[in-house]
Amino acid sequence: MMKSSLLAAVSVAVLQLAGTAAQAAEAPAPTKPLYGTWGVDLSTMDKSVKPGDDFFRYVEGAWLAKAVIPADKTSTGVGYDVFDRVEAQLKDLVDTSSRAAAAGTAQTPAAARVGALYNAFMDEARVETLDDAPLKSRLAAIAAVTDKAAFTRLMGESNGGFGMSLIAIGPSPDPAKPELNTLYVGQAGLGLPDRDYYLTDGFKPQREAYLAYITRTLTLTGDADPAKTAADILAFETHIAEVSWAAADRRDLTKAINPMTMAELSAYAPGLDWTAYFEASGVKGQAALVVGEKSAVQKIAALYAATPLSTLKAWEAFHVTHDVAPYLSKRFVDNRFAFTKSLTGVTEQRPRWKRGVALIDQTLGEDLGHEYVARWFPPSSKAKMVDLVANLKLAMSYRIEAAAWMAPSTKAEALKKLSGMDVQIGYPDKWRDYAKLDIRSDDLVGDVARSAAFEWAYQLEDLNKAVDHKKWGMTPQTVNAYNGGFENKIVFPAGILQPPYFDPAADDAVNYGSIGAIIGHEITHGFDDDGRRIDATGKLRDWWTAADAKQFDAQADALARQYDTYEPVKGMHINGKLTNGENIADLGGLLMALDAYHASLKGRPAPVIDGLTGDQRLFLSYGQSWQAKERDDALKAQMSSDPHSPDGFRVLGATRNVDAWYTAFGITSGTYYLAPKDRVRIW
Ligand SMILES: [Zn+2]
Repeated sequence: MMKSSLLAAVSVAVLQLAGTAAQAAEAPAPTKPLYGTWGVDLSTMDKSVKPGDDFFRYVEGAWLAKAVIPADKTSTGVGYDVFDRVEAQLKDLVDTSSRAAAAGTAQTPAAARVGALYNAFMDEARVETLDDAPLKSRLAAIAAVTDKAAFTRLMGESNGGFGMSLIAIGPSPDPAKPELNTLYVGQAGLGLPDRDYYLTDGFKPQREAYLAYITRTLTLTGDADPAKTAADILAFETHIAEVSWAAADRRDLTKAINPMTMAELSAYAPGLDWTAYFEASGVKGQAALVVGEKSAVQKIAALYAATPLSTLKAWEAFHVTHDVAPYLSKRFVDNRFAFTKSLTGVTEQRPRWKRGVALIDQTLGEDLGHEYVARWFPPSSKAKMVDLVANLKLAMSYRIEAAAWMAPSTKAEALKKLSGMDVQIGYPDKWRDYAKLDIRSDDLVGDVARSAAFEWAYQLEDLNKAVDHKKWGMTPQTVNAYNGGFENKIVFPAGILQPPYFDPAADDAVNYGSIGAIIGHEITHGFDDDGRRIDATGKLRDWWTAADAKQFDAQADALARQYDTYEPVKGMHINGKLTNGENIADLGGLLMALDAYHASLKGRPAPVIDGLTGDQRLFLSYGQSWQAKERDDALKAQMSSDPHSPDGFRVLGATRNVDAWYTAFGITSGTYYLAPKDRVRIW
């Protein structure tokens, strides 16, 4: 009963949004904001810090001084508060399904699936009894391989299952014909987070922990000489790392888009039988593709040809064991966690129920999401977001029109791209159907394997076909947002549309400073150092005059140089080039949020609340939205490969380039003070 009424609520929401929205018979919106009295918790501030010296500490200093990172987490802050809230809501949904599935009273196939998978994961007694039995047949398949041709097939099959491949593949919009998906081919094969972990002195402890972990794992699986085999595996991955591209180059569209035919790829990278590899992956008769890390793909293929089969088999067996470990008995789980500990700095394993909920979230995400939005995402929130996004888009259009450095032809193309940007809010219009996925409450490893195969088939079904813009790359309950790049769309899942990012009961300046800046951030991605190379249709095309491109690059480079100077962990600086797109988006997003807030006042002065002006509240809200305290090891991992700057520097790095920030807080000097001529001005 409960299930069907939930489903009915969803279809009602969809119908209302197609009309004028927001007259739903929903519970009245709370009149009091969740944070502080008008949306920002002022008790987190440290007013002894001058805003120009460290604005992040000014906003969050009192909080930073007392915040404790939970033993099972890599960081803490408002992002995790929201994540915890969503996790508790998902737990509620999963528990209901779990009880119904166990009693055989599940009202819908979705509830039966969610309940069965969760029950399979939580049945620790069964998992212990089975011990390594579910792993043995998988390792036996690797042991049975006697030549490279068979190993190539095995590696292809790992794309829809457990294990590792040296080459990553997957469908994505064709940069030359963005209405169609093509096959992307790129570097892979590393067990550590990035090539730097193998090659730089700073990551020596992590490298040693990895070697110890491989050795322990091979001991568990009965390798004859674990220490020697582990050394071979690490040496093999180190060779892969040596030829792999750095993270900054991987996201550079001028380097990472290399169209080829199958014949060209086979001639360029002859070390691998590409046809056999693709066929084993489920890709037949692929005529053309796009290669990402071109030279790396060539060298990895050569490395594959030169590496003894015994090393490849040991490497694959280790990775299969690593992948299956979370679903095996305690000795495998603990062995893997000991490695996680050394890599991230967490000291405690997450409770099993949290890992179970995360598994459902990863494998049956839209089954959960469908119920999640029905219960916790009111139609009025979607209606408010539609208005906010429209205001932010308008702000961006004024910024483009007013940009003195842009030629009229470049402006016209930019405006065309902006007006064509598709905005999707809360949840996808079309829900994913998991009916063909077989989930059994007594076969955990089988469930996970079938889920991986199901996911892979879901991705491949669009290969060489029209791009389905209604498919989402995040689930509705995800606390995040994204810009779809070649799809020219921006997506805001329901998970992020809650306090402190979005609070219908908060002061307007607060909402503009948090969700407004996030919306502006996603819009700006369409015009960052990568996004500017994609046109309104999603095609990779240079629509800039030479002079405009030069201006843009000069400002983008200046911003990169600013971030290069920041040192979040002693001895490790932010990589300005790797994070350039995100930093441009942060700065553009904040500027647009300010413009949109000012426009919303319609000529009236902003109210003063608690002695704070509208702009001051907006900047405080921006600072609050990035409240975070991280473990050093987690920061190092992030900085090596993640294009996002650490949260505090998203505040420090953006605000100092905004004139209104200096005016709002009367800043004329300080550590982060920049003379007006040194402030980066892109959007
Ligand atoms: Zn971003």
